[in-house]
Amino acid sequence: MSELIFDKSKAGRRCAVIPCRDVAAVCVPERYRREVKAELPEVSEIDLVRHYTNLSRKSYGVDNGFYPLGSCTMKYNPKINEDAAELKGFTDIHPLQPESAVQGCLEVMHTLSEYLCEITGMEAMTLQPAAGAHGEFTALSMIKAYLLDRGETSRTKLIVPDSAHGTNPASANMCGFTVVNIPSTADGIVDIDALKNAVGGDTAALMLTNPNTVGKFEKNIEIIEKTVHDAGGLLYYDGANLNAVMGVARPGDMGFDAVHLNLHKTFATPHGGGGPGSGPVGCKAFLAKYLPNPVVKSENGIFSFERPEKSIGMSKSFFGNFLVCVKALAYIMTLGAEGIREAAENAVLNANYLQESLRGTYDIPFDGPCMHEFVVSLERLKRDTGITASDIAKGLIDRGMHPPTMYFPLVVHEALMLEPTETESRETLDSAAAALKDAIAAAYDNPQSLRDAPVSTPVGRPDETAAVRNPVLKA
Ligand SMILES: *Cc1c(COP(=O)(O)O)cnc(C)c1O
Repeated sequence: MSELIFDKSKAGRRCAVIPCRDVAAVCVPERYRREVKAELPEVSEIDLVRHYTNLSRKSYGVDNGFYPLGSCTMKYNPKINEDAAELKGFTDIHPLQPESAVQGCLEVMHTLSEYLCEITGMEAMTLQPAAGAHGEFTALSMIKAYLLDRGETSRTKLIVPDSAHGTNPASANMCGFTVVNIPSTADGIVDIDALKNAVGGDTAALMLTNPNTVGKFEKNIEIIEKTVHDAGGLLYYDGANLNAVMGVARPGDMGFDAVHLNLHKTFATPHGGGGPGSGPVGCKAFLAKYLPNPVVKSENGIFSFERPEKSIGMSKSFFGNFLVCVKALAYIMTLGAEGIREAAENAVLNANYLQESLRGTYDIPFDGPCMHEFVVSLERLKRDTGITASDIAKGLIDRGMHPPTMYFPLVVHEALMLEPTETESRETLDSAAAALKDAIAAAYDNPQSLRDAPVSTPVGRPDETAAVRNPVLKA
């Protein structure tokens, strides 16, 4: 366990020189003054630098190595986007400044909204939600307001396929809808008969991810769209992972009425560790009047805020995580229309390359070409050797890569879900495939090594439940 910065403290050591005061001293009233000195670590500059540099080396991120965490799109985030977000005109502002003083920032929001509408095939957009799940909740609130407005109070059910991301049923539930789960076919896509049986006069909407969370494109999307719309329901697109289709296919053209995107997955904001993120919501024109307040409009080159006529209110304070939007805009403008499409094509190519590299060693439950990610099952390995998907994931840490997503989607037993993303080279994919195969070989030759893994990290196998419920962050 590492030493704390407090353990390194020695009275009197300093690494900062506070400049001389050039304003009159103001005395803090007696009653507000602390009675004992603040317990702050006192260290020299070099000890401070070493402490935090060494700590930073213990964490693993996309800038350290391969990170194929399925459904998360852990792609490399170009540093030029960070430069854009650090520009003083974007950072040294206040949300209460008058519109006339922040025209450039309003233009960023307006332009990004337009680009995202173009990419998704939607007609209006809000940048307010701070995450994907937050976007889902915002869009479902809009759908609810629309249905109430039309007096369609009996539409209380939201249909969610069993392969959906866990946030979908959670958001639907939080929004007061009843969730109806429908099963997938053996190919991992929506079971049309089950959908037809589920829809009716009580259907509010279908929430769908396409390509879905097992990496398959819903090839029956036109039938799905017609089935739901004919029953009077709406179609909601979970666009958290747009990486497979951006620049190639648009949810709006598939017939979806509303969509959320995760800028912190697809549009080059690093994520993990709690944010900040951004989950813009796009919609067709008939839902635009319910968007969160405010939206940016442009008239004669002047940008201003506007309250949509029947706005559901604000979904986040002020305008969302604005700097994440700056990064997304920088990313989209750097790639351009062709680059966006190329990124999607390479994401799909890389996933298929890795899937084919693993064929024969890993079982692929939903076989055939994948989109941006794919799922393998270690059910047979567990039966043969007792080694689980979790053991293999831990063994991969010792082999120098971040584990894939484990035990998701729930429809596959002993699942690992891999999403290599477009930013990885063929060499990286080859060495990842070698590590993945080596871990399987170890399951037969030396299973204990996997049960003990990881041995290369400061902490091996914590009690995961206790670690989540009762984290000890300072030991
Ligand atoms: C990540 C993800 C979400 C949720 O996004 P958050 O920003 O984590 O709330 C929703 N749906 C899918 C398919 C996702 O991959």
